[in-house]
Amino acid sequence: MSVLEKIPVREQDPKIRAANFEEVCYGYNQEEATAEAIRCINCKNAKCISGCPVGINIPAFIQEIKKGEIEAAYRIIADASALPAVCGRVCPQESQCEGKCIRGIKGDAVSIGKLERFVADWAMEHGICASPSAEKKGKKVAVVGAGPAGLTCAGDLAKMGYDVTIFEALHQPGGVLLYGIPEFRLPKDKIVKKEIENVQKLGVKIECNVVVGRSVTIDQLLSEEGFEAVFIGSGAGLPKFMGIPGESANGVFSANEYLTRNNLMKAFRDDYDTPIVRGKKVAVVGGGNVAMDAARTALRLGAETHIVYRRSEAELPARLEEIHHAKEEGVVFDLLTNPTEILTDEKGNVTGMTCVRMELGEPDASGRRRPQVIPGSEFTMELDTVIMALGTSPNPLISSTTEGLDVNKWKCIVAREENGETSKEGVYAGGDAVTGAATVILAMGAGKAAAKGIDEYLSSK
Ligand SMILES: Cc1cc2nc3c(=O)[nH]c(=O)nc-3n(C[C@H](O)[C@H](O)[C@H](O)COP(=O)(O)OP(=O)(O)OC[C@H]3O[C@@H](n4cnc5c(N)ncnc54)[C@H](O)[C@@H]3O)c2cc1C
Ligand code: SF4
Repeated sequence: MSVLEKIPVREQDPKIRAANFEEVCYGYNQEEATAEAIRCINCKNAKCISGCPVGINIPAFIQEIKKGEIEAAYRIIADASALPAVCGRVCPQESQCEGKCIRGIKGDAVSIGKLERFVADWAMEHGICASPSAEKKGKKVAVVGAGPAGLTCAGDLAKMGYDVTIFEALHQPGGVLLYGIPEFRLPKDKIVKKEIENVQKLGVKIECNVVVGRSVTIDQLLSEEGFEAVFIGSGAGLPKFMGIPGESANGVFSANEYLTRNNLMKAFRDDYDTPIVRGKKVAVVGGGNVAMDAARTALRLGAETHIVYRRSEAELPARLEEIHHAKEEGVVFDLLTNPTEILTDEKGNVTGMTCVRMELGEPDASGRRRPQVIPGSEFTMELDTVIMALGTSPNPLISSTTEGLDVNKWKCIVAREENGETSKEGVYAGGDAVTGAATVILAMGAGKAAAKGIDEYLSSK
């Protein structure tokens, strides 16, 4: 095999996996990982590092894989990342570290994500995890939300010696890693729960079923509960809808609700009682990762599944790998198509969706060509389920119950990128709550920056 080509990764056969929830990608074994690691030329000015929002020393850990020193490789990764087995599976590496890899100029970039996943899985199998701090600072910090931003911030603060408690609204920690991203991309018991346990082993306490803004306010945490700083990593869990007629019909879901029922409440398992609509013909409206996840979930539950997206394939915002996997599994892509109305029967159940065909015009403010309706192109799709995957925004509960916390017009908390500082003293924020829906690694990068910011603030107090 040419050194310009990456070592292929083994995957479940598309025909078989389209009917199960087992993980699609098997990852590298040690032999494959070593062969891939050899492709890394250990650049002096390693551009890949600048592409990683948590700054993993990528060439250093890859050199350890080459030597067969997998535990040493893990220690290097764990120094920077609290969730490497998660990131190795779901990060959009093609637009981050791998997008900057020098090998990518004349061939395939080094498969940094798959190497990270191999190391993290190996460490998990061998019971190796990051060590807690020996020195304690005697200062308490509260973290709101146990998603990637909160877990990273909490883990880093615990490593610095702070006494950290995460308050999580749901009955289990993990945020979108647990309730959003499906099992077949990110196994919950085998991967997510294990990496959260590693954060807890650093000394982080997690209290579930605490809705900050209802059970307790940020001000109470600071003034009555003895916390000297708070990090808000409460995500962006409020789904958006199109505002077209029929959207409140039976059989219309937000992707969030649909995926939560399936992932967190295990609706896909026969031994669980959670109800889920196993549609016969499902349309998922949207073209991002969330849309791909909802479509591939509906397909696995037995439906003929369509992605309905108003622009063309080139503008699909989902990762290329997810689009490729969805197509392989049999999801139908209805591109340049936009819904105008959801049709129902006399009982209010979905029977179809009226759509129009679109064409691309001049670029809009986002730089993408603006979709325009083709006059007279209206047609009807027969359906029994519609899933809206149009993005999410932050829930305003925390901002509306915290005096002095500034938000922007999208209800995102205003925080400084370099240290997470908000308009309220002692309160820091990061992740989707600040940026709106983004990525796991950007949320982790923000959690990391805020941990540093909080440390500087508390050290100067
Ligand atoms: C279906 C889906 C697929 C995705 N796929 C990918 C992917 O492949 N790759 C990728 O990089 N990104 C992906 N993303 C995006 C990514 O998961 C998010 O950007 C990331 O999880 C944001 O992390 P966060 O910690 O800011 O928020 P979240 O993960 O949303 O975590 C926030 C946590 O805060 C809790 N919370 C909220 N309000 C309160 C409150 N008042 N009190 C206490 N707790 C509260 C929530 O319950 C939640 O647990 C996907 C998102 C979705 C929905
Ligand atoms: S840029 Fe690519 S080849 Fe260079 S050190 Fe990073 S991973 Fe290795």
